[in-house]
Amino acid sequence: MKLDIIVPAYNEEDNIFNFYDAVNEALKGIKHNFIFIDDGSKDKTLQKLKELYKKDDENVKIISFSRNFGKEAAMYAGFLYSKADYACIIDCDLQQDPAYLVKMYDFLRENDQYDAVCMCQKQKKKRGLQRMFYKLMGKLSNMEIVDGASDFRMFRKNVVEAILEMSERNRFSKGIFSYVGFRTYYDSYKVKERKAGVSKWSKFKLLNYAFDGIVSFSTKPLRFATYTGVLTSFIAFIYLIVILIKTFTTGVDTPGYASLMCVMLFLGGIQLIFLGILGEYLGKTYNETKRRPIFIARERIGFDEDFL
Ligand code: UDP
Ligand code: MG
Repeated sequence: MKLDIIVPAYNEEDNIFNFYDAVNEALKGIKHNFIFIDDGSKDKTLQKLKELYKKDDENVKIISFSRNFGKEAAMYAGFLYSKADYACIIDCDLQQDPAYLVKMYDFLRENDQYDAVCMCQKQKKKRGLQRMFYKLMGKLSNMEIVDGASDFRMFRKNVVEAILEMSERNRFSKGIFSYVGFRTYYDSYKVKERKAGVSKWSKFKLLNYAFDGIVSFSTKPLRFATYTGVLTSFIAFIYLIVILIKTFTTGVDTPGYASLMCVMLFLGGIQLIFLGILGEYLGKTYNETKRRPIFIARERIGFDEDFL
């Protein structure tokens, strides 16, 4: 029984060693491998990882990307190279206490009716935008997106294989994890402060992330556009009849510039919004059809030759 610890790392030079020590300390007695993914870091992350490899070439494996491909791509690479019975994703910044790894591991070993454990963040402060996003996302995609569910998860091998089957380029892991199904046990954890370095997330990024998630897993916005089109056409038709009757009975009525302008602007706005939504789907389709690789590795260190 072995456990692969998949660790995406982007500009985490000051966290690598602390992280490694903390995990080893927590996982005493559990056989485990580290799969670090250096996501095109610009600092000394790779150098630090190589030092770690020199120290412990038995258990440390490294994939270094040719540039920054994002955490989603890093997680995919980790899954691709994982061969153990269990695999987990954990951040490198020690915001997620490695002690939970033992909890997750024990849980999966003792409960074979479950295939995955997902840790949900106990919110320190209420993040309204995030909560709204989870609600909207769940409603739009008919999928279970649990509030606060993080990427801090552990899976059995069968789940990892299913995740790898989802070979889309535009990866939205929360949706993917939910889509593949299996029985997931949800537990909660307290997010700690970052040990070193800075977070790579911004509010603006979260908004784009939300859009990506919705477009990746739901075509409901397109249906909504169609319904809105049908509804406005219906209203316009009724209005047309009213105007015709009015014109025939009371003659031509020239004033009406303001109302005309309002209707024109309103419909123009709606059209642009829906054109944008259509464009989002078209863009995603365009990107998927190119079938570009999800990540490009510059170096792979510590893997068996035959596996590469
Ligand atoms: N990360 C990554 N590639 C990126 C951004 C982040 O591999 O482009 C890694 C990062 O090194 C960390 C994890 O993903 O281990 C979570 O990132 P971060 O701590 O910035 O996110 P937050 O905890 O603030 O949500
Ligand atoms: Mg973090």
